[in-house]
Amino acid sequence: MNHRFIAETCYAVLAIGHKRGQTRSLLTSALAHIGPRPTGSAPPAPLVWRLKVPTPVRRKSCSNSPHILVIGGAGYIGSHMLKRLAQAGYGLTTLDKLSGGVHHAVRWGALIEGDVGDAGLLERLFAEQSFDAVMHFASSIEVGASIAQPLDYYQNNLAHTLGLLQTMRRYGVHRLVFSSTAATFGEPQYLPIDEAHPQRPINPYGHSKRMVEQVLSDCDCAYGLRAVCLRYFNAAGADPDGELGENHQPETHLIPLVLQAASGRRPHITIFGDDYDTPDGTCIRDYVHVSDLCEAHWLALQSLMAGGPSQAYNLGQGQGYSVREVIATAERVTGRPIRVATVPRRPGDPARLIADPRLAQQRLGWHSRWSDLPTLIKHAWHWEQKGRIAARARLPHD
Ligand code: UDP
Repeated sequence: MNHRFIAETCYAVLAIGHKRGQTRSLLTSALAHIGPRPTGSAPPAPLVWRLKVPTPVRRKSCSNSPHILVIGGAGYIGSHMLKRLAQAGYGLTTLDKLSGGVHHAVRWGALIEGDVGDAGLLERLFAEQSFDAVMHFASSIEVGASIAQPLDYYQNNLAHTLGLLQTMRRYGVHRLVFSSTAATFGEPQYLPIDEAHPQRPINPYGHSKRMVEQVLSDCDCAYGLRAVCLRYFNAAGADPDGELGENHQPETHLIPLVLQAASGRRPHITIFGDDYDTPDGTCIRDYVHVSDLCEAHWLALQSLMAGGPSQAYNLGQGQGYSVREVIATAERVTGRPIRVATVPRRPGDPARLIADPRLAQQRLGWHSRWSDLPTLIKHAWHWEQKGRIAARARLPHD
């Protein structure tokens, strides 16, 4: 019996109406592994292993628990979010194309390897599993690359999200937690930046996220889709237990680069400009611990599950540190000297970005636990020294 025959049989059974319960689920699952529908006299459909659903690691969910689709769950913030959701016993499915994220970061729930821009894959996914909400972390995040390759950014960050929203609408999934960014504000008009601050992005990355925020607002009015947009300031740090951490390829963010310089993995940290209008001339940013960010996502999800409204929140500490202050703190935490090389400014860097987190505190009850700079750097240092190596050595689904 060849795969073409199996596929035709599955499609035929589905077509004549066996559309309920396990039969449908099993057939859809089988078809997902077999690939697209064979047509006419075309040669047998190739085996398209688009869906890789490995045995979940430490799955804690039970059938009555909510099931969340985590898009980008293999990435930095998404993988930490999986841990938070697993602690609550939620059912989890990660969709990730593993371009930026890594397989071994998905330690809870099922991993489906694929692109959120793949409409057929989304269709099969939503047909097979009913989701209570979607958390969408997957996006391209480099400002410089967005200026050089704007179409890629609008495609990945905007167009793919439109496809996702269409599928969510068709399947009646009407709760979304969306990863947005401080880059939607552009140059600050005042500090700290609250939710009423004008949104005038200054690069395609910021525009792409701002556009999605607008789309979500329109979808709320038209379809009742409830979305919480979380605008991250500077996400940093690592899982306090050392199980997860930052793994960008290539790494462009300050704190992991500073710690790589401390560990000797790179000769020095490059400071992008020391002639800004700040006390020590280097840029000031508002660093927030990744696990605190995940707690905000958790609270946002709870608000949606309880029937709460759409809302955008700015997530930061309300306190900024300069690049030099970050380096000095890292030297204290690691006990190692860090060599520095100063070069001209990086294009598109505002001198200061500081969030006003009061709305999230008041409405979601969000309070950060690990975001003071020494603690945040301590966790990131632990990851740099031990966690990264242990995670790589760990079998993907042990
Ligand atoms: N930065 C730096 N050297 C680096 C990376 C970053 O001086 O190798 C500076 C960057 O110019 C910015 C701050 O550190 O002022 C934070 O940059 P990051 O890329 O971590 O986050 P962003 O603020 O761009 O989201």
